[in-house]
Amino acid sequence: MSQIDEIKDRLDIVEVVSEYLQLQKTGANYRAICPFHPEKKPSFFVSPSKQIFKCFGCGVSGNVFNFIMQIEGVDFKEALQILARKAGVELKREPIKERTQKQKLYDICELATKFFEKQLQETQKGKKAKEYLKDRGIDEDLIKEWRIGYAPNTWRGLSDFLVGKGFKRDDVVEAGLAIAQEKKTPYDRFRGRIIFPIFNLQDMPVGFGGRIFEKEKEEKEVAKYINTPNTPIYDKSRILYGLNKAKVEIRKEDSVILVEGYTDVILSHKAGIKNIVSSSGTSLTPYQLKILSRYTKNLVLGFDMDVAGESATKRGIDLAQIFGFDIKIVSLPEGKDPADIVKEDIKKWQEIVKSPISIIDFYFEKAFLKYDKETLDGKKEITKILLPFIARIQNKIEEAECISRLARELKIKEEALWEELSKVKKQLKKENFEYNLGDVLEEKLSQKEEKERRRKIEERFLMLLLKNKEAVKEKKLPFVFSFKEGKELFEVILKKKKIPPSLKDFVDELEFQFEVEESEKGSVNLEKEIEFCINSLVMFDKEKKIREIVKKIKEAEEKGDKNKVKKLLEKIKKIQAS
Ligand SMILES: [Zn+2]
Repeated sequence: MSQIDEIKDRLDIVEVVSEYLQLQKTGANYRAICPFHPEKKPSFFVSPSKQIFKCFGCGVSGNVFNFIMQIEGVDFKEALQILARKAGVELKREPIKERTQKQKLYDICELATKFFEKQLQETQKGKKAKEYLKDRGIDEDLIKEWRIGYAPNTWRGLSDFLVGKGFKRDDVVEAGLAIAQEKKTPYDRFRGRIIFPIFNLQDMPVGFGGRIFEKEKEEKEVAKYINTPNTPIYDKSRILYGLNKAKVEIRKEDSVILVEGYTDVILSHKAGIKNIVSSSGTSLTPYQLKILSRYTKNLVLGFDMDVAGESATKRGIDLAQIFGFDIKIVSLPEGKDPADIVKEDIKKWQEIVKSPISIIDFYFEKAFLKYDKETLDGKKEITKILLPFIARIQNKIEEAECISRLARELKIKEEALWEELSKVKKQLKKENFEYNLGDVLEEKLSQKEEKERRRKIEERFLMLLLKNKEAVKEKKLPFVFSFKEGKELFEVILKKKKIPPSLKDFVDELEFQFEVEESEKGSVNLEKEIEFCINSLVMFDKEKKIREIVKKIKEAEEKGDKNKVKKLLEKIKKIQAS
């Protein structure tokens, strides 16, 4: 038996899914609110007999591996590791020489984490570091949970340890833990620092942040924090600190709190607020936003932000706005970060998190505090801050509301602001490639959506056909299947052949769909429904053709080519009449 089959065999999809979702029994199957698309009524179903899941709202489906890939946002190999752990199956590991380079780096990071942990617990200096942590409110439990450690203040302590375990010094350099020098032995990157391992989504340490903690050093202008550089397993633009522990909670709360420091994340956990991550000092990147958007579209900022300047942090938030995140911000007492607040009073942080204000209110408040709205200069400065912000709002209703609010408060005519806004938008488009990102994403999405919608009808057609194989006798259909399996299955049904193994999963899924539909809606009139599917597909194709022609008409109109417009219009009439 392959390891994949062994894992499938040992795991029950119902059990695995119920670790993430609240499942409800319905007939032979289970249902839940779909975690992959927003909905109020549950359309996500799990079949214990077929060991598959499917959402009849958004169409996501598959076996237990697909579920983990989707919900954890990982690739197949990573899903395999997660499920192997759940199933208690030990994946075969190769000897050091034969392990892939990446696997070696994972192993080095894991060993280094253990090394640092031990140093913190057992050495004199480590104990001092621990005292410092406890002073900041980070107790023993948190130290264990986040695997915090201490890097001794020696040149090759860690490197020698890893070499002793069979790794090459070059590997240690590649893992970002040592620094190469010409003609000399590489030396440890982290020395005399508290170490925070940075985990990937599978809880594996892949990078490290090191912080100094002694007063003398703080005064000597040594960098307070240093980090692992990018390595083959660690890309700081794609990792969010704490997401490995936060992802389930983020889904549950449907919101994520973004903070600046590691200790903000760690201490917030102490207060029971666990839907929290840090971009570890860098500004949010498109990659990080894409990852977050798999879990939620609601972003709560847990730090103060200067709305006027051009800071890296602000650029990240601008980007989040373009990505269509709904952004809120908590109001922190002057000069304090979440870690300070938790240390002083856990309840206070819990309260603050409960009542964030919208980013719109935040921007208005800050801008009007900073400048005098009664003077002409003040009005100019306020619009300079707020119009670019409004230009990035994706929701047209919100945009309009902001403009009228600004007009009211500045006592300016709305028309003037709209005019300025369109100038700002043009400027932004020119200056900023990123500004277009939102549009680009949306357009691609709608094309994808269209394809998925059509495929859904095709699948439904095949599902019904499986139950009434006599319904289509003619070989010629008035439409063409858009995907390979569909075409193949249609042939199989038409020729009354046995279902080949390559189509088994697909047929399982269709049968499951039928089961659910019957149990939800009662009996299905097969003939009528099949006819309806065929008609829908024909209509679908017609509409698509017409949309394409309409596009061409617009182009012709812009060029003033009246003849072409006329011809194209006739084409549309023909399609409609057919
Ligand atoms: Zn769904």
